[in-house]
Amino acid sequence: MKAKDILKTMKPYKPGKGIEEVKKEYGLDRIVKLASNENPYGFSPVVKEELPKLVSKLEIYPDGYAAGVRTKVSSFLGVDENQIIFGNGSDEVVQIICRTFLEPGANTVMASPTFPQYRHNALIEGAEVREVPLKDGHHDLEEMIRQIDEDTRVFWICTPNNPTGVHINEETIKDVLARVPEHVLVVLDEAYYEYLEAEDSFDAVSALNQYPNLMVLRTFSKAYGLAGLRIGFGLAAADVIQVLEPAREPFNTSTVAQAAAILALDDQEFITTTVEATHKNKQALMRFCDENDLGYYDTQANFLLIQLPISGDEMFEYLLTQGFIVRSGEALGLPNSIRLTIGREDDMLQIQQAMKKKLEMVKQS
Ligand SMILES: *Cc1c(COP(=O)(O)O)cnc(C)c1O
Repeated sequence: MKAKDILKTMKPYKPGKGIEEVKKEYGLDRIVKLASNENPYGFSPVVKEELPKLVSKLEIYPDGYAAGVRTKVSSFLGVDENQIIFGNGSDEVVQIICRTFLEPGANTVMASPTFPQYRHNALIEGAEVREVPLKDGHHDLEEMIRQIDEDTRVFWICTPNNPTGVHINEETIKDVLARVPEHVLVVLDEAYYEYLEAEDSFDAVSALNQYPNLMVLRTFSKAYGLAGLRIGFGLAAADVIQVLEPAREPFNTSTVAQAAAILALDDQEFITTTVEATHKNKQALMRFCDENDLGYYDTQANFLLIQLPISGDEMFEYLLTQGFIVRSGEALGLPNSIRLTIGREDDMLQIQQAMKKKLEMVKQS
């Protein structure tokens, strides 16, 4: 059998450790997962209540056009229905973009580290990946723009950036959009949009009609807490969406995911509560870092990248023994750090205590 050569050099996505796996390995009854930026408050109680009703007619294929949730997103965000493409998570929208625009001979520009699926899917399509190192946690947009040539097809911006959490302000994004040539699709991945607090953030959705080469990605997996259902979407000019649509699998979002997304959008109170609690606990975590001389990036997302005097792997291993799963910076390309999802208040107090204990042990040895 002959597979694409590039696949031999690639590894499948390695997820953070699973809860059951860690429970068994360390003999713990309770594990708190703060590794994948999931919502620690679950998902909308309205969705939970209605879910049994949503699980019906499973013998029938879902609506491939996702008409119900399309109408909902369209009115919620004030975009036209033909400006939306749904995906089995925004991950799949990333894949569709790569299938559509990338091929051998083409290149794509992104930061490093950033969300790894841009690179992963681009490589599978045989495109050249131009990665520009972050500068102090931020996209080095000047250098990224310099990397563009006539063969550049897609320019990825992740804001707030995963894994550093920093966002890009309105003025900067407008400047980038003015300078990136129109033959390049600018993808703004806003997976953490709901958590943004900064007043200078860019309203990309309202600006869609001004920029024919702008695409915005959103997801129900993070603040909406529906990661397990897999639904996200992309927004762009109608002609861009039209080009992407044939590369989309016909029934890519499930009946249940579509129905749940509609209810979830209607329950903005859940989003407000989630975001408020997250901000409060984030402030407390930052204070903890300040008190313990730990550096961090000024995050606008529901996670914090914390710099450590030891390796991220060492802190990760220690926290596992204490019942916490976090993400080691080594695995993310940022050594001597961990990325921590902002969890519930009591769990955050406990993990802070555990980290403090580990840091004291290190100091004494
Ligand atoms: C989590 C995440 C996504 C993917 O979310 P889906 O579950 O596939 O919708 C996309 N981009 C970034 C930056 C993320 O952190």
